[in-house]
Amino acid sequence: MRKKVVILATGGTIAGVGATAKTAGYRPGSLTADTLLQGIPEVAEVAEIEAVQVCNINSDDITDAIWLDLAQTINAMAQDEDVAGFVITHGTDTLEETAYFLNLTVKASKPVVLTGSMRPSTSISADGPMNLYQAVCVASSDAAAGKGVLVVFSDRIYSARSVTKTSTYHVTAIAAGEMGAIGVVRDGKVYMYETPGKRHTADTEFDISGLKALPKVSILYFAVDADPELLRFAASRSSGIVIAGAGAGEFSESYKQVITELSVPVVVSSRIDDGIIIPDNLLCENTVAADNLSPQKAAILLRLALTRTADLDQIREMFTIY
Ligand code: ASP
Repeated sequence: MRKKVVILATGGTIAGVGATAKTAGYRPGSLTADTLLQGIPEVAEVAEIEAVQVCNINSDDITDAIWLDLAQTINAMAQDEDVAGFVITHGTDTLEETAYFLNLTVKASKPVVLTGSMRPSTSISADGPMNLYQAVCVASSDAAAGKGVLVVFSDRIYSARSVTKTSTYHVTAIAAGEMGAIGVVRDGKVYMYETPGKRHTADTEFDISGLKALPKVSILYFAVDADPELLRFAASRSSGIVIAGAGAGEFSESYKQVITELSVPVVVSSRIDDGIIIPDNLLCENTVAADNLSPQKAAILLRLALTRTADLDQIREMFTIY
């Protein structure tokens, strides 16, 4: 018997339509999930599909309200015994952020798989249909259960925590740096090799069931001559700050001076793609090391941490667990 997979469609390039077969100059979030699926009859051989159009937007317009809606919808639908897993179609720009948010807030061990595409549906050799087909294969696979939220892209399976966008245009743009893929898909068959080591889904302490919004966190990117007054401005508008520091989380003396005076939690990440920030790297005592989370993922964990506490030691602990 075919398993049932719920597709939650949010838009992005996978649902993008252009006037020509070019890869640029198209409108993301133009096709509905049902239209996308009509072009891939093979999906019906793998699973029975229920398609839900959550929104149909460019993923740069994703908001915390949409994240909360997605997590709450998945948590409710996962109770249904007939549902084997979930696929979320999503723009690639912020796909990694939605994936990590869900990795920390979904309370189910059923597979939750995000996918998208780098080329719009109208381009030559569009990558969306294969990515969606493979995502449905993973979402209906027993091997994907209990692995946290996953991302399927160009034949590879990634964990939500380590996946990131690495190119503005290549079809293999979604990757995971030095952490790598945890599995692959080939002709519809799922091959899983690794298990994510950090705590996720039902094992996290984050409960978003009654939430309508997340605390605001600002990300500041350090570079030569970066204006430290922007830190004070960000602190006046946010409940926390993430710094994309240079190297292993470093910044100037003038930045350091202002940071020591801030009263909101400050998490230090890096503008470097790979690598870990350890507490020994920290220049200011009142900061938290982001481990190897990118600034955009550190911001998600800080936003969720702030739903529970503003205590720096407790936040530090969360940055070692998740
Ligand atoms: N701007 C698009 C989006 O993130 C890019 C993509 O989907 O590849 O929605």
